[in-house]
Amino acid sequence: MTRPAPTSDERSAPFFEGAARGALVLQRCTNCGEHHFPITEICTNCLQTDMEWVDASGDATLFTFGVMHYLYHPGFAKELPYNVSVVELAEGPRMNASVDAPNESLEVGMTLKVAFDTVEGVAVPIFRPA
Ligand SMILES: [Zn+2]
Repeated sequence: MTRPAPTSDERSAPFFEGAARGALVLQRCTNCGEHHFPITEICTNCLQTDMEWVDASGDATLFTFGVMHYLYHPGFAKELPYNVSVVELAEGPRMNASVDAPNESLEVGMTLKVAFDTVEGVAVPIFRPA
């Protein structure tokens, strides 16, 4: 059993296409420049609806994390205990992700850089210490 893979749809396809080429891509409002994640149809900063997809820097800091000790899905058996983290991207949005580092080394505020893991053929962003 492997970890469950995310599935893309029409709205999220650019995100997963970017991940497949090794880029973290985000929506950016063409009016005010605010970056958004998760995907949105309306800019929460200026309320305009014109968005473009742009490559993000991949730079982030660890905002918070939890360490899972209970097996909620058999696909995670080999990774137990594993972290579920929230990273704050340099562009502003926060994203749930795994940090590929020993759980005991995680510290809120540590600097991270995006990397990509492949789950059943789907590239998903993870983060590693910078
Ligand atoms: Zn805007």
